[in-house]
Amino acid sequence: MANPKCKYCELETVEISDQTLQDMRAMHPNIRSLAARPKNGWWRICAGCDQYALGREMTRGFPIRTSSGEISEVNQLLADLGLEDF
Ligand SMILES: [Zn+2]
Repeated sequence: MANPKCKYCELETVEISDQTLQDMRAMHPNIRSLAARPKNGWWRICAGCDQYALGREMTRGFPIRTSSGEISEVNQLLADLGLEDF
């Protein structure tokens, strides 16, 4: 089932775990698209709008769960979508 689209850029949202959110916040990023509250321990976020918070400049970004249930990371996800220049 498809995830809802981001309200800012229309990209399909992904999800991150509580632990990943804690790890991200330790780096004090600006986060724009994070959901107000988690659902079953997973937070919905946009890998386009929050690509830097998700680790765009890291060799491997934080783990994100796509709508197919697969665990990916931001650089791989944007590449898979053909959006390297997003
Ligand atoms: Zn977005």
